[in-house]
Amino acid sequence: MHEWKQDEHCIFHVDVNSAFLSWSALKKMEDDPEAVDLRTIPSAVGGDVQTRHGVITAKSIPAKKYGVQTGEPVVKALQKCPALVLVKSDFAVYRRYSHALMDILREYTDLVEQASIDEAYLDMTQSRGKLKGSESADLPWPLNAAHEIRKRVYRELGFTVNVGISVNKLLAKMASDFEKPDKVHTLFPEEVPSKLWPLPMRELHGCGKATAQRLHEMGIETIGQAAAMSLPILQANLGEKAGLYIWKSANGRGSVLVRTEREKAKSYSNEETTAEDITNENYRTLGLEIIGRLSRKVASRMEKAGVYAQTVGVNVKTEDFRRHSRQVTLLSPTRDAEVIRRESEKLMEDMVFGDKGFFAAGHGLRLIGIGCTNLSDGSYVQMDLFSWAQTLKEQEKQEEERRRREQEKQEAERRRKEEERKQSEQALRKKEKLEAMMKRVQTRYGRGAISKGAVSESSSHFDKKSNS
Ligand SMILES: [Mg+2]
Repeated sequence: MHEWKQDEHCIFHVDVNSAFLSWSALKKMEDDPEAVDLRTIPSAVGGDVQTRHGVITAKSIPAKKYGVQTGEPVVKALQKCPALVLVKSDFAVYRRYSHALMDILREYTDLVEQASIDEAYLDMTQSRGKLKGSESADLPWPLNAAHEIRKRVYRELGFTVNVGISVNKLLAKMASDFEKPDKVHTLFPEEVPSKLWPLPMRELHGCGKATAQRLHEMGIETIGQAAAMSLPILQANLGEKAGLYIWKSANGRGSVLVRTEREKAKSYSNEETTAEDITNENYRTLGLEIIGRLSRKVASRMEKAGVYAQTVGVNVKTEDFRRHSRQVTLLSPTRDAEVIRRESEKLMEDMVFGDKGFFAAGHGLRLIGIGCTNLSDGSYVQMDLFSWAQTLKEQEKQEEERRRREQEKQEAERRRKEEERKQSEQALRKKEKLEAMMKRVQTRYGRGAISKGAVSESSSHFDKKSNS
């Protein structure tokens, strides 16, 4: 077993196996004890069961054997496996199972970070004492804890989970993705070369399709090959941020910060006190300028924290020192500065303009603030099937657009080079002609002839002639 260094964290990643499918199966059996267990037959959750539109969001292990894949159109899955049993997704049920799982996990540590509806990171560093009783030579810490969690979830809730164990979130997450279902895996730093490096690049958590494609173009196919690259080379090819992320992750480095719900429930806000009151006269200039600036600040802080907000609010202090605020809850979480700016402007204009607005009442503003609350890590956004499919489409479109622009750029560059080459060839030919001519003149009139005015003139005469 891994020898724990001082300050090293013990992080678990608990991941429900085929979550939506398992939960749908359980619900079905709950409603009808005679119902077949969907997990034991080729089945999948996704799209519209009647019209057979949409994409597969989860599949059973028997369906996987037919090649049915998550994210593929229902129609395609049915071609691969005509007997596939389709079930509709039911988020109310999923949320219920998800809560029940998180409740169990929180019994083992206070530090539980729910990463999405069916997975969580646990910081188990301080939990050894609680589980001392189940430690043994065959099952040393922290394997005993992982197996206990795995078995208990199955016993009490009826579905299986994988548990990944390591010293940071990235490695724990990668470990939980090894063989499924119902397994415990470790991926300690000393196991990185044998367990992580042989994997294809695309399996690295956080490495998207586009990044994997770029890496492929650089001749990098496995995580180990990326780990062997120098940071500057990766950054030059992938951009500063993505390059750093890939380099760190491929080398097994990751965050140990397990953020609990309470920490996540924070809000992100910024405010500015203005030097002069904002009134009807300067709102369009000064007011909008401040809103734009605050939106960018809040958005960039949220990006750094890796969170999205579903609620945007503005608050103002009027010249009589009263505070007023308005807020709006968006359809989907955002951390886009433009969206925050747009929503804030709308809220603000509701407050200040119109018959009942502050400006009509003659009140100027002393302070403007923007706050974003109702935070999440954004994973719930993707769970809405419709927007998920939209996102996929959008990504494909963007990728296509990027490729098209890249091609255009390359074509323009090729034309520019061709033009340059032609021009320099022409210049060279001209120079050669001139030299040949000068040589003829020198042979005819002697070495000193060129410096004499008369011959220079005739040289230009030759030049003209040769050009015509
Ligand atoms: Mg899962």
